[in-house]
Amino acid sequence: QAKQQGRSGYTFFSNDMREQAENRMKLLKDLRIAQQHQQFCLYYQPIVNLNTLNIEKAEALIRWQHPQKGLVSPDVFIPLAEETQLIHKIGEFIFASACQTLDKVRKNGENLQLSINVSPVQFTSKHCYLNQWHTHLEQHNLAPHDIVIEITEGLMMNAQPRTQKRLNNLTAQGFSLALDDFGTGYSSLAYLKQMDTDYIKIDKRFVDGIADNKDDLALCEAMIMMAHQLGLQVIAEGIETQAQHQLLQQAGCDFGQGYYYAKPMPEESLLALLSND
Ligand code: C2E
Ligand code: MG
Ligand code: MG
Ligand code: MG
Repeated sequence: QAKQQGRSGYTFFSNDMREQAENRMKLLKDLRIAQQHQQFCLYYQPIVNLNTLNIEKAEALIRWQHPQKGLVSPDVFIPLAEETQLIHKIGEFIFASACQTLDKVRKNGENLQLSINVSPVQFTSKHCYLNQWHTHLEQHNLAPHDIVIEITEGLMMNAQPRTQKRLNNLTAQGFSLALDDFGTGYSSLAYLKQMDTDYIKIDKRFVDGIADNKDDLALCEAMIMMAHQLGLQVIAEGIETQAQHQLLQQAGCDFGQGYYYAKPMPEESLLALLSND
């Protein structure tokens, strides 16, 4: 009530919008500094084989330790990095540090496939990101087979035509490809047809309701069946409960990822977890 009296709708919105624009500019400035001062690091979340319960993969998830704000979510700063082309440098950092971690895993006598989120914007670069990637792989005695490239389906919508060609080029070289957030975009099925996909990742939004809602379960089961008929494997994201884990296991889902198994963790914790496993 008091709020409504104090501000007309108009000033409320214009203040709000100005504030938003100012916050954005400030964040962008900080993001440039973060890139120069290496305030980023990668966390890793285990991906479990639902048949054996072994950790076979881990997803690399970027974290920004902002000097004042603390951890800033990638959902906030990755879109900003994409709009401003900062994503190219950040993307190289991500690839390089993931390779470094995998090298350590190997030297501990363990093995993993690492899943790396890549923005379609990275493929628009005139710089040869592919040479960069091969350099990092070679430096750590790794091969394309050790890496799964995760592309968010929704982002492919605005992608340039050559993005798809470059993605197919990657899979031809031996990189695995996963369609992330599957089912949340507008043309999931079209991408399956056009790209040499190895995995679909069922989005948390579908997994959330499966223990309480028949329709959600039916949707997950249908996605798993379809994927298998196309020769693809399925990773379910955002599994938080034993009930969800069991239902997905029963539905024949290949891999699971979520807080039920483990939260994203720093490199040291991943290495410790793998050697205890
Ligand atoms: P995504 O690739 O779909 O990653 C899964 C997100 O779900 C991660 O959030 C992860 O921490 C979260 N998650 C996993 N299991 C659970 C669970 O059981 N419950 C809940 N509530 N959440 C769970 P995060 O790390 O905040 O990343 C958000 C998004 O930001 C990612 O979604 C991805 O699209 C993007 N992102 C993260 N790291 C990178 C990166 O290195 N490069 C790029 N280009 N994008 C990234
Ligand atoms: Mg992902
Ligand atoms: Mg996802
Ligand atoms: Mg393939």
